[in-house]
Amino acid sequence: MLVNTDYLVVGAGASGLAFADALIAEADVEVAVIDRRPAAGGHWLHAYPFVRLHTPSAYYGVNSLALGEDRIDQVGENAGYYERATGGEVCRYFAEAAARLTRTGQVRVLFSHEHLGGGGKGEKVRDLSTGELHDVVVGRKVVDARYLEGSIPATHAAPFAVAPDARVLPVNDLPAAAGSASSYAVLGSGKTAADACIWLLDNGVEPDRIRWIRPRDAWFHDRGHFQPLEQVGAIMEGFALDAEAAAHAPNVDGLFERLEGSGRLVRIDPSWPATMYRGTMLSRQELDALRRITDVVRLGRVRRIEPDQIVLERGETATATDVLHIDCTALGLSNAPATPIFQPGRIVLQQVRHLSPSFNAALIGFVEARRDSDADKNRLCPPNPYPSSIEDWPRMMSRTWRTEARWLSEPDVAAWVAASRLNLIGALPDHANEPSVHAAVKRYLTYVKAAVDRLGSVQGSV
Ligand SMILES: Cc1cc2nc3c(=O)[nH]c(=O)nc-3n(C[C@H](O)[C@H](O)[C@H](O)COP(=O)(O)OP(=O)(O)OC[C@H]3O[C@@H](n4cnc5c(N)ncnc54)[C@H](O)[C@@H]3O)c2cc1C
Repeated sequence: MLVNTDYLVVGAGASGLAFADALIAEADVEVAVIDRRPAAGGHWLHAYPFVRLHTPSAYYGVNSLALGEDRIDQVGENAGYYERATGGEVCRYFAEAAARLTRTGQVRVLFSHEHLGGGGKGEKVRDLSTGELHDVVVGRKVVDARYLEGSIPATHAAPFAVAPDARVLPVNDLPAAAGSASSYAVLGSGKTAADACIWLLDNGVEPDRIRWIRPRDAWFHDRGHFQPLEQVGAIMEGFALDAEAAAHAPNVDGLFERLEGSGRLVRIDPSWPATMYRGTMLSRQELDALRRITDVVRLGRVRRIEPDQIVLERGETATATDVLHIDCTALGLSNAPATPIFQPGRIVLQQVRHLSPSFNAALIGFVEARRDSDADKNRLCPPNPYPSSIEDWPRMMSRTWRTEARWLSEPDVAAWVAASRLNLIGALPDHANEPSVHAAVKRYLTYVKAAVDRLGSVQGSV
C-alpha cells in the first residue's frame, strides 16, 4: 500500500517515466509513479493498430534505456531513415522501462491507481482494482505528468452527430472494417488522418475511393530533417533553415513561404493555404502517396453525418451508406496553456524545447535534482505550449532558441544535454568536421540571433 513518498508522479506515460528515470539518476529519492491505466505507456496503450512513432526511435523514451537498435529501414515509406517503433513496440518498451525503474528500489510504479487531488491528510489516490482510497504523504513534490494528456481516437467522443444508418468508426477500427466498404471518407486534417489515408493506399484502395474531409490544411516537416546519429547533419540543416527563414521573416505568412521554399516544411496541396502546424512529419514517399488523393472537401468541421450527406460548417457534401467514415478528429497533442513548470510542492511537465517530449520530461527531472530554487529551475525550463497553428511557430521557436542558449551557459546542464540519448543532435560533435555538417552549423550560428530578434516583432512571438 502506498502511504508516503518523496515524489508522486501522476501518469506512467512517456513523460512521467522519462522524468522519474532522469530524477533518480541524479538524486537519492523515493518516487511513486501512478497511472489509472493498467500498464505503462500512456496513450500508446490505446493507439490505432497501424500507429508508429513519427520520429525515429533513437531519441524517444527514457534516458537510461535505448528503444530499438538504430537500424536504417531498407524498404517502405521510411526507407533510408532510422527505424520508428510500432505502437506495440512502444508499449513493450515502456513496460520494460517501468520494470527497470522498479528494480532500482527507488521507484514504485502502481497501475490502476488514480490521483483524485490533494486533501487534508495528503494526496488522495484510489486503487481502482479494490476501490480503496489512500492518503499519500508526499515529502517533496507532486509531479503532474498528465497536464498535456492528449485526446486520442480511442477515448474521444466524436464532435459531430451521427444518424443511425451512417457508418462512422474510430480510426482504431479501420483495419477490421475496411473490407466491408465500397469507399472511404477520412475525417480530420492531421497526422492521424494522414496515417489512415496511407494505410488505405498501402492496402490497395485506389485513391479515387478515398474522400478526405480536411477542415484545415496542415504543414508537415520533412522527416529527412529529423534523422539523428550518422545522419545528424540533416537535423542541423533543418535547424539552419528554421533560423535563416526566421531571420528574414516579414510576417507569419512570409515566414512559412520561406520555410516551404527551403524544403523545411511541406504541405499536401501547395495550391491551397495551410494554417495548421502541429510539428508532425512525413517522408517524401508518404507525401507523394497522399497527393494521389484529390477528392478533398474543405467546408470546415463536420457537424453531422447523415445516410446521404455530410453536413459541415460551410455546406454539405454527398455520401452514402456504403461509405465508411473514419473519425480521425481527436486533437492528439493538448492545447493546454503554459503554466510554470516548477511550483511550490508541484511540478507540471510541459514542452520546453520544441517537439521533444521525452527529452523535455527528462531534462526537467535532471534540473529538479540539480537546482535548489524554483526561480532558477523555471529559468532553465520555461514552458512552451504545443503549436496548433502557424501563428504558434514564432513563439515556440523563439522560446526554444532562447532557452537552449541558457543551457549552454550552465556546464552541468550543457553536459547532460550533450550526453542524453534523448537529445536529437547528440551525435553532432562526432560529425562536426564533415563539410556539410560544418556548413549547416555555421549557417545556423549565422542566423539564430537575428532570428530571435526578428521573431520578437513577428505576430505570435512572446
Ligand atoms: C499518435 C501519437 C503519436 C506520437 N508520436 C510521437 C513521436 O513519434 N515522437 C514524439 O516525440 N512524440 C510523439 N507523440 C507525442 C506524445 O505526446 C508523446 O510521445 C508521449 O507519448 C506523451 O506522453 P505523456 O506521458 O505526456 O502523455 P500520456 O501518454 O497521455 O500519459 C498520461 C497518463 O496520465 C494518466 N493519468 C491522467 N490522469 C490521471 C489521474 N488522475 N490519475 C492517474 N493517472 C492519470 C493517463 O492514464 C495516461 O496514461 C505522439 C503522440 C500521439 C498522440
